[in-house]
Amino acid sequence: MTNNRSIDEINQKINDGEANIYTAEEFKKLIRSDNAPSFEEVDVVTCGTCGVMSGTAAILNFIISPPGEFIRAREVYLNGVPAYAGPCPNEWLGSVDVIIYGTAHSIHDESYGGGFLFKDLLEGKEIDVRVESADGKTIENTITMADVTRAQIIGSRMAFKNYTAFTNPNKEEVSSIFAATPLEGNLRGLTFSGCGDLNPLQNDISQNVIKEGTKVLLNGTQGYILGNGTRSTAEKPNLMLSADLTEMDPYYIGGFKTGQGGEVYDTVAIPIPVLTEEIYNNLLVTDDMVDIPVSDIKGRHLPLDETDYGKLWGNYDLRPRYDDSNCLTCDKCAVEGICPTNAFSRGRLNLTYCFGCGMCANYCRHQSFRMNTGSVDLKINGKDVNVPIICRQSDRLRANKLSLKLKKMIENQEFRL
Ligand code: SF4
Ligand code: SF4
Repeated sequence: MTNNRSIDEINQKINDGEANIYTAEEFKKLIRSDNAPSFEEVDVVTCGTCGVMSGTAAILNFIISPPGEFIRAREVYLNGVPAYAGPCPNEWLGSVDVIIYGTAHSIHDESYGGGFLFKDLLEGKEIDVRVESADGKTIENTITMADVTRAQIIGSRMAFKNYTAFTNPNKEEVSSIFAATPLEGNLRGLTFSGCGDLNPLQNDISQNVIKEGTKVLLNGTQGYILGNGTRSTAEKPNLMLSADLTEMDPYYIGGFKTGQGGEVYDTVAIPIPVLTEEIYNNLLVTDDMVDIPVSDIKGRHLPLDETDYGKLWGNYDLRPRYDDSNCLTCDKCAVEGICPTNAFSRGRLNLTYCFGCGMCANYCRHQSFRMNTGSVDLKINGKDVNVPIICRQSDRLRANKLSLKLKKMIENQEFRL
């Protein structure tokens, strides 16, 4: 591979305020309108993705009691979410090291889990902690982020290069982590993940720049690529990432309820410096060129048909509009029960929590929510069917926002390539 331009040259242009930096969204819009900047006219493209990323875990140290009260923690629960004590024993220090999985569920309520806990911590909320010690004591206390001395997120499988869409051709409903609620049978709806042509790995499929040591924005703060993630392959790559949890912005990380309990979502943005023509050519990918298999949610690896991200994202709405004049204040609000991020409560839509999944518009039977999430034409078992898209487990709005933040940070020299 010949380097047509060095990273030092791009950094010099950034210092001089002369670099041409685009977000992936801006760059794709120009491609679609036949106005794509040439190789010479683009220096950096900031790509992003946001979605459910099950490999997310946090390593935390916090003070739970004065020294000498217990020998060491054996079991630890934060808001009922079980954490793994250690590896350091912190003998007699009153301090605890734990590893918490974003996918761990509270012992009191399985729809609450690690993802919700990380957001609560970042929002400064009080967290109930219970420690069962090795010398038979129970220590109960509350902590906030101020009591956390160090916290780091490590994601073993993040930012995967797009994914699979699922539908349910069976008669009975199927419960899965790939749908916010059990997915009804008879092809009632389709659920999918992946930000299509905005995804960093989709824009650097040869991983010319996305590699071990590359700097990224993870949930709003600077982090690093540790390498490729678990189960990463050349066809379906993903990344292992790490950053300081205490510096993260709660908007970009949180819990996501699924048919199998609480999950966790994250947002990642990665700069692609346009060093070579090969890197530039890889950036020319658009949604309609990114195929995605549609599989049976039961069994997962039985492809039924294929579609592409152009058909899945289209120009459909990224957020719902709530019209309270249509709301019948039902005894049991269907939306409150199924909204995966708890964005709708007591007649109020919290757009900061909203993930744009589309479930509210598809499940409120009284049209209180308006959001066009589209539908897709498929051929399943020889039959032509049009299946409505009822749940998106990725959020392009957050991905775009973080990509824009990264662009501005590079321009302001707060983020060095
Ligand atoms: S289900 Fe729809 S109409 Fe009923 S309370 Fe919820 S938002 Fe209102
Ligand atoms: S789109 Fe609707 S159901 Fe989905 S997160 Fe937003 S408010 Fe909740």
